[in-house]
Amino acid sequence: MKLTRYLVPTLKENPSDAVVVSHRLMIRAGLIRKETAGMYAYLPLGLRALQKITAIIREEMERAGALEFLMPELTGAELWKESGRWDTMGKEMFRITDRNGMAYALAPTHEEAFTAMVRSLISSYRDLPLNVYQINTKFRDEIRPRFGVMRSKEFIMKDAYSFDLDEAGLETSYQAMRQAYRRIFQRAGIDTIPVEADTGAMGGSASEEFMVASEVGEEVLLICPQCGYRANQERAAHARKASAGGGETPAACAEVSTPDVKTIDDLVAFFGCTADRFLKSLVYLADGKPVMAVLTGDRDVNEVKLRNLLGAVELELAPDSVVEEVTKAPVGFAGPVNALAVRTVFDIAVRGVVNGITGANKKDVHFNGVNPGRDFTIKEEGDIVLAVAGDACPACGTPLGEKKGIEVGHIFKLGYKYTKSMNVSVLDEKGAAITPIMGCYGIGVNRTMAAIIEQHHDDKGIIWPVSVAPFAVHLVGLGKSDDELARVEEIYALLCAAGIEVLYDDRHATPGFKFADADLIGMPIRVTVGKGYFSGGEIEVKRRAGGDTVKVGRDGLMSAVRAIIDEERARLNAS
Ligand code: ATP
Ligand code: MG
Repeated sequence: MKLTRYLVPTLKENPSDAVVVSHRLMIRAGLIRKETAGMYAYLPLGLRALQKITAIIREEMERAGALEFLMPELTGAELWKESGRWDTMGKEMFRITDRNGMAYALAPTHEEAFTAMVRSLISSYRDLPLNVYQINTKFRDEIRPRFGVMRSKEFIMKDAYSFDLDEAGLETSYQAMRQAYRRIFQRAGIDTIPVEADTGAMGGSASEEFMVASEVGEEVLLICPQCGYRANQERAAHARKASAGGGETPAACAEVSTPDVKTIDDLVAFFGCTADRFLKSLVYLADGKPVMAVLTGDRDVNEVKLRNLLGAVELELAPDSVVEEVTKAPVGFAGPVNALAVRTVFDIAVRGVVNGITGANKKDVHFNGVNPGRDFTIKEEGDIVLAVAGDACPACGTPLGEKKGIEVGHIFKLGYKYTKSMNVSVLDEKGAAITPIMGCYGIGVNRTMAAIIEQHHDDKGIIWPVSVAPFAVHLVGLGKSDDELARVEEIYALLCAAGIEVLYDDRHATPGFKFADADLIGMPIRVTVGKGYFSGGEIEVKRRAGGDTVKVGRDGLMSAVRAIIDEERARLNAS
């Protein structure tokens, strides 16, 4: 491809609205342009990289036995009503109505659409296992679209859905996808950190997120330096630590006057003890009904864990009016002693507290010397707090470390959620109906591209891994006379004829300008045909990733280029 016939609108300056490096470089290298907030167009060079990524994904999906579909982007409201998600998807789902009043969603995901499609296509146990996938656009009305294509309102996802006869079958399908994901990310040149994302109803390794470590990551990962346990903070478990007051003799429970002492900080100052001594009691609305969560004062509630424990769809902190109604006291004096008429759940650490302090459900009064079991009963308990760095690893007890990450892919054992609610069944050998069990598997294609750039760049620009580079070779021609131009043209033809993808800078510009652009857009190999060739027959071959410039004659060019490509490919190829 000749640059004079192509369109690569590179920019010298960083765009002012781009805060992450991948976003800046994607704009500056002419890969994407913003259309409106949260929506980006891919320009020809960016599209080539995107297509390289989708090609890898496709190859690995096929290798794992998944079958490619292309589903409609409009999904009828009736499908979402069947699964019950029309009411629970909330504002992130774009909804539209046609001229006849029919309602649709612009698909944010395709569980319903694929489940209904597969339902119409299978009838016998012989039709399973089945794994279907597509590479298609998703629409999500994100609250805060940002970081360029990392979080946009419209993006491309590879989404796959497996259907199996039983849990053992699901495990096989899940492991095949797990393997495929590892290969995809390795081949695309990114290091991912697979983290456990849920140990919920399905148990074991029911869900895994593929994270890319990044300072701008929105997810917090907790990682054990000892045994390798890794989990998203949203879900991370941690071992129970020794509780406050351990070893003390239980004292009598006594009322203490605490005028205007409401927050944990106030209490720490007032009582002169550590925050873990307090039994913090928070009132939430779970699907509109008040519930109380009790935890030690040094911790924060993990609302994902709490919501799971309660089995609720929506969970939010209750407004003051509800707190006052439930506790019959102003906000700041809630507690579990003298049980309230609300469902109350306790964090697992509460049980071990000796001589705790908690609100008395009375204005300006706390109880001191509170002991679980004696002063209140624990009926429902679970791990409901956010794990933090320094907590003990749930697997081996070593203090956990913390990293920020971006999720590029997610694999998940869904279970029977959709096949049951949407009545999918097949007949077994004896003619009895069986409900298939599902898994779902997503990769954000655009986000993967951004993640590749986050991991492969320097201060001059992008350094594409050869597997996803838009072109393998960037040919810089520095000829001026007709004869020189013809000699560069001949090298270009030679490379093209050998089947190498070449971007040829044939513009009239200074060497410095051309080299800066080559570094910015970052093809793996730069081939320079300039003075050294015109006078001495030497062509310069240089890797974008660094290393020496090699000088070769015309006859040695192809093997030099091939050797670099082969070596880089070998490094990326998954075993
Ligand atoms: P996040 O927590 O980042 O919002 P998610 O849990 O909503 O992600 P999934 O529904 O699991 O994401 O979607 C699968 C993949 O799609 C994600 O791993 C991510 O790579 C990608 N993705 C999700 N939302 C966006 C978005 N708004 N823009 C670009 N890619 C996205
Ligand atoms: Mg999301």
